[in-house]
Amino acid sequence: MPDDVAETPTDELAVVHLKAPCPKCGGAVVVGDRAYESECGWRVWRNILTHDISQAEMEEILRDGESRVIDDFESPKSGKEFSARLKLAASAAADAEADEDAPKRTLELVFVDRPVQSVGSCPKCKSNVVLRAGNYFCEQNTRKGADGEAVTPKCDFVLWGEVSGKSLPEGAVKDLLAGKQTKMLKGFKSRSSGKAFDAALKLTPAGKIDFVFQEKTKKKA
Ligand SMILES: [Zn+2]
Ligand SMILES: [Zn+2]
Repeated sequence: MPDDVAETPTDELAVVHLKAPCPKCGGAVVVGDRAYESECGWRVWRNILTHDISQAEMEEILRDGESRVIDDFESPKSGKEFSARLKLAASAAADAEADEDAPKRTLELVFVDRPVQSVGSCPKCKSNVVLRAGNYFCEQNTRKGADGEAVTPKCDFVLWGEVSGKSLPEGAVKDLLAGKQTKMLKGFKSRSSGKAFDAALKLTPAGKIDFVFQEKTKKKA
């Protein structure tokens, strides 16, 4: 080990304090290896569902009670990205006097729909297609009117965000909505056999997904 490293004991490294107090004890919150933590035992993991909570975000949560919308959470089960705010759990402060051994959730996820942004136009009715909860719906394919009242969907088009075990990349979705065949996509999994396979996708005239398999590689001439 080089001398200059050995000469710096780790406990002399600067401890980084956040510019916002602990919600439980009002004391300092420091940046630990894996968590933001306070000496009272309050703690938040720095990485939540693949998102690294930045110091600025943590300070915002401590100061305002919740973060801005964070767009790169990833569900461990489906691998799908989703958007949410991180919010201080209401119990975080109340827990101060509760049993120390009781499991505590210090943060809660507040799910938010991603900002409505058209991904393309509906192959059936030409309305905008928007991402809702991981799937691509025609804007007219909704059971909820502007005031939240129930309505009959005017169009039934939806492109599921996951096809045979694979999340569709947005580029493929755009190709499909533009009436184009996607490039070859890897990592589908057959529902019946469980076998992995590669395929390109295209939409049928009825708006359903169709697999296009690669032609057998031609022998060298
Ligand atoms: Zn504390
Ligand atoms: Zn439509």
